[in-house]
Formats: sequence, structure tokens, C-alpha cells
Amino acid sequence: MEDCIFCKIIGGDIPSTKVYEDEDMVIIKDIAPQAPVHLLLLPKQHYPDIIAMSDEQAQTLARCLKKLSAMTAELGLEGGFRLVSNKGADACQSVGHLHIHILGGGQLADKMG
Ligand code: 5GP
Ligand code: ZN
Repeated sequence: MEDCIFCKIIGGDIPSTKVYEDEDMVIIKDIAPQAPVHLLLLPKQHYPDIIAMSDEQAQTLARCLKKLSAMTAELGLEGGFRLVSNKGADACQSVGHLHIHILGGGQLADKMG
């Protein structure tokens, strides 16, 4: 989709540090990390947020999460991690292409929000 920063990252038009890529998704390093490891899981299909996905996109996202579960050690997440997907203004979503924050690599704060 035009004018979507994450579509441009997925397409290689904007540089990023990709730590994983397959037919369904890319996982990149967040440009402004909020934890020792802060990655973003980006489905390659553009849709704006977690409540906008079709049934097929939901199946793809489930596949992405299953693949992520097999990669946690190599991503430096052995001690645990947190997944966050912000939706809408109240949650301060700033990019309108579904993304899952992957936070870990050390002790995280025990409260959110
Ligand atoms: P949101 O606020 O929508 O939940 O998360 C958007 C995230 O994308 C933020 O954590 C922000 O740092 C990250 N981000 C925004 N622009 C870029 C970029 O150009 N490259 C990378 N790697 N991350 C970005
Ligand atoms: Zn997009």
C-alpha cells in the first residue's frame, strides 16, 4: 500500500534491520527500542490493526506466531518476552499497518498502561 511506512520496509524501499523474513512476515528491529530486545513482527499483507483482519489473515497471523515461538532463543528471548499490538488512538498506535511488538531481552516493567 502506498504511503505505508511498514509496506515500504517490507518492500525494501525503506531500510531496516531485518532479523527474519519468510512468505508471511518480516521481523525487524524497532528504530526506537523500549527494551533490550524490541522487535516488530510485520505481516506482509497490509491491514490497519488487530481487529481489521480477515479470517485468512487471522490464520496467517497464527502461523506467524507459531513460527515466532520456535525462534525465541535465537532472538535473545530465552528469559521471557511480551507481545503488544496497539490499536487506535487510546493505545497510541502510530503506524496503521498491523504490527506486533516483541519486547524482551531483560526484566520488563511489571505493569503496563
Ligand atoms: P505503534 O506506536 O504503532 O504501536 O508502533 C510503531 C513502532 O514503529 C514504534 O515503536 C516505532 O519506534 C516504530 N517505527 C516507526 N518508524 C519506524 C521505522 O522507520 N523503522 C523501524 N524499524 N521502526 C519504526
Ligand atoms: Zn502497510
